[in-house]
Amino acid sequence: MTEDGARGIPADLLITGATVLVHDDAGEVSFADRHRILVHGDTITAVEPDTGPAPAASLVIDAGGTVAMPGFINCHTHSPMVMFRGAAEDVPDERWFNEFIWPMEVNLTETDVEVATWLAAAEMIRAGVTTFADHYFDMDAIARVVDASGLRAVLGSTFFSSDGAAGLERSLGFALERRGTAAGRITTALAPHATYTVTDDDLAATAEAAREHDLLVHVHASESRGQTRHSIDRHGYTPVEALRRAGLLDVQTLIAHGIGIVAEDVPALSAAGGRVGVASAPKGYLKHGPDSTPVRLLAAAGVPVGLATDGAASNNTLDVWESMTYLALVNKAAERDPAYLPARAALRHATTESAAALGMTGTIGRLAPGHQADILLVDLDAPRLQPIHDLANTLVYSGRSDDIDTTIVAGRVLMRDRKLLTVDLEAILDDLRPRLARLTDRSHGRSIQNYDA
Ligand SMILES: [Zn+2]
Repeated sequence: MTEDGARGIPADLLITGATVLVHDDAGEVSFADRHRILVHGDTITAVEPDTGPAPAASLVIDAGGTVAMPGFINCHTHSPMVMFRGAAEDVPDERWFNEFIWPMEVNLTETDVEVATWLAAAEMIRAGVTTFADHYFDMDAIARVVDASGLRAVLGSTFFSSDGAAGLERSLGFALERRGTAAGRITTALAPHATYTVTDDDLAATAEAAREHDLLVHVHASESRGQTRHSIDRHGYTPVEALRRAGLLDVQTLIAHGIGIVAEDVPALSAAGGRVGVASAPKGYLKHGPDSTPVRLLAAAGVPVGLATDGAASNNTLDVWESMTYLALVNKAAERDPAYLPARAALRHATTESAAALGMTGTIGRLAPGHQADILLVDLDAPRLQPIHDLANTLVYSGRSDDIDTTIVAGRVLMRDRKLLTVDLEAILDDLRPRLARLTDRSHGRSIQNYDA
């Protein structure tokens, strides 16, 4: 596989001798032994057998003995919430929001968000997350960290209908101003908070703006079966039907969670023809209830399911490798079928399906010519990984993000030999620690919203 025209021009990066995770024409995952990857600028220009004379390159990484795989994509997170990691545990959804998270979020300043996002960036680069879809407040602060850290992101400024018309205006303003920035690594989205905090009229206005400006819409919907029941009781239809009525299934829409998606939603989702994706964060679901994203139902509807962590206040980590493992385990249990969602399928969710859920097929999620050079090199020498009978099984069931040695985004090396090259973790922690008492103070008795879904 070689991109025409790149031959003869020295590469910026050459990775040699790797076992490369590739996708066949049917989208299935396989591994190509002893291959090399050429990168010109931010783009992969060739993935080919590592035989014959090596092409010229400014930087050569000998990746013998490692697996090269596409960077992980976190399809739904609130990255600054790492500041609340472990601060609200062992309570049901409603108490989690009303007694902990929303009262604590009253305390946030834009600087708090920026400092916390730096910690998230360090964690993500270490965990091999090269793209994250963020849905939060003070998005300009997050965009600055994306730019400076070298990560790639899909950023949406969260709004509620309680913000009035200014909410959508701010979300749209951010999306138009920041898209394509950070040398093209920032893509933007409109980010209504949820079907239960944003009115049908505001959802319709969001769909209209998305169509006019060709923007992704990133929204929490159908987060639990209880939410779906409440929506039917109150409005007479499901959250997915609310999205359809608003016109949001006619544009590129990313649904966070979708746990409460039911069989009656399938015709509308099928009709969306792959424009709608769902982000699944299975680890946190285990803490909050028995249900998780119905992957089998969504596959039948042609809906891509990408991997996510949600915020670290619920998931505790921003580790998408962990989400990949949980996705396989949780769905086997939910389907009562040990054959369901085998390792190669989990790897497909981690790569091409995650890219599709963000509307970024052809840009990220594959190591193939023309794709962005978002590449991980994974060491296989941990005792936990040996011996290897089937590499997909090893990666999904034994592997951990700690096995990642090198993280590359858009052709730039952000971590090498597990050393962060763009983030000063110690300085970030020094800046964050003195803020924690103020950030977690709930004595003011205020809240940014009331959860009643
Ligand atoms: Zn969320």
